[in-house]
Amino acid sequence: MTNIVNHWIGGKTAEGASGTYGPVTNPATGEVTTKVAFASVDEVDAAVAAAKEAYLTWGQSSLAQRTSILFKFRALLDAHRDEIAELITAEHGKVHSDALGEVARGLEIVDLACGITVQLKGELSTQVATRVDVSSIRQPLGVVAGITPFNFPAMVPLWMFPIAIACGNTFVLKPSEKDPSAAVKVAELLSEAGLPDGVFNVVHGDKVAVDRLLEHPDVKAVSFVGSTPIARYIHTTASANGKRVQALGGAKNHMLVLPDADLDAAADAAVSAAYGSAGERCMAISAVVAVGAVGDELVEKIRERAEKIKIGPGTDPASEMGPLITKAHRDKVASYVAGAAAEGCEVVLDGTGYTVDGHEDGHWIGISLLDRVPTGAKAYQDEIFGPVLCVLRAETYEEGVALINASPFGNGTAIFTRDGGAARRFQLEIEAGMVGVNVPIPVPVGYHSFGGWKDSLFGDHHIYGNDGTHFYTRGKVVTTRWPDPADAPAGVDLGFPRNH
Ligand code: NAD
Repeated sequence: MTNIVNHWIGGKTAEGASGTYGPVTNPATGEVTTKVAFASVDEVDAAVAAAKEAYLTWGQSSLAQRTSILFKFRALLDAHRDEIAELITAEHGKVHSDALGEVARGLEIVDLACGITVQLKGELSTQVATRVDVSSIRQPLGVVAGITPFNFPAMVPLWMFPIAIACGNTFVLKPSEKDPSAAVKVAELLSEAGLPDGVFNVVHGDKVAVDRLLEHPDVKAVSFVGSTPIARYIHTTASANGKRVQALGGAKNHMLVLPDADLDAAADAAVSAAYGSAGERCMAISAVVAVGAVGDELVEKIRERAEKIKIGPGTDPASEMGPLITKAHRDKVASYVAGAAAEGCEVVLDGTGYTVDGHEDGHWIGISLLDRVPTGAKAYQDEIFGPVLCVLRAETYEEGVALINASPFGNGTAIFTRDGGAARRFQLEIEAGMVGVNVPIPVPVGYHSFGGWKDSLFGDHHIYGNDGTHFYTRGKVVTTRWPDPADAPAGVDLGFPRNH
């Protein structure tokens, strides 16, 4: 029997009332295992209303109350890592160890939220003028919304809501309709941890649900993570509706390999970062730029390693890489490889047509490696979001940096070198939000923030870290005078107040 994934509104399951459902497929078998309710405008309104009602008390709750619930939630999330990872593998397809990795990185943000007391400490200046003190405090916004992508169904929501609710907001999540179950499990765990009803709500669905959140007058801020065209749309629409918005988009992450780099380490890193999670990561390395004469040797080392990757169902502990999310996406990824030679690329490995015995209906594709990729090739221009690595050649460091900086994306980037001076220069000159020095996927820890530049992020705030606290709160500055009884009366003074 097909499972049904329903909404979570006001602390309980809310069965889909719109009559519209979407299919959820196991990418390893191609079988539709679940159907997910798609919210109507009325259902989104019900979730926002529940969040608004809950904000009346949650917004006034003490830091001690909020953090004690978050500590309990952290323990529950830790205890249910395996179960959540299994849900992710069943709907997303990534291998179990990779799914466990995303839960672990999500937990880091819960750690941060448990310590929100430190982040929310205000500032006080005493005696800024005679007997005048000034304090700066930060207060929650109210109801905030999160809209998240398929590729990290647990981690990306966890980038958002722990900080939002720790700051005193209430939350409505619209997770990806392709793998919705992890979000519901998280909602159940929050409830078990003692989170009051309505503080965290989940509505599933498509553009109908998203558009309602973007226009709803009671939604004060929107956090979005997904592809660049939708990120741009979310930023424009939510901003036009007067909301605070951060919209993280897609990527084309480059790895610059200088001639002095440890080529074995660079090849290991390139293969792990390009093909991990079948390339369906916004921080995947999808372009290697080989500088000077190292290109041929580097490509050979990448090829040797890439050919050994074991592809199979995510539930098989022997698998290192699983299938792609949908058949349509698999076919799109394959089309870039099929067209590569005609665009001037050297096809070193062609993963199209790959299948796994006994799982022929799964969304499989093998490893592809393209060398001497021209910058005009579609395989280089587009975010492919699959296991396809492009290698480009540059004569010098300067040429490599210019090539990377010409990309419209600016999410993550990495340099591989033994030269500290070159690495330092790269950090300062490269136009990307996250930089790795001999680290291929520089996803920042929870207490630093995550975010790209250019078409990889629309809005002023990165996600989590100090930026997260800032995004989910607004500032207030209080100026106080307690006159001394001995003071002479100030009298009327229409001049602009000066401090003395
Ligand atoms: P997507 O943009 O298709 O979908 C993201 C969310 O937007 C989903 O919840 C989806 O239901 C909703 N959505 C889709 N089309 C919409 C529309 N027309 N109107 C309103 N809402 C819509 O992204 P995806 O395919 O789920 O995820 C992959 C993309 O996300 C990649 O581009 C990847 O780079 C990006 N991503 C970026 C980051 C980052 O931190 N920058 C992290 C993870 C994923």
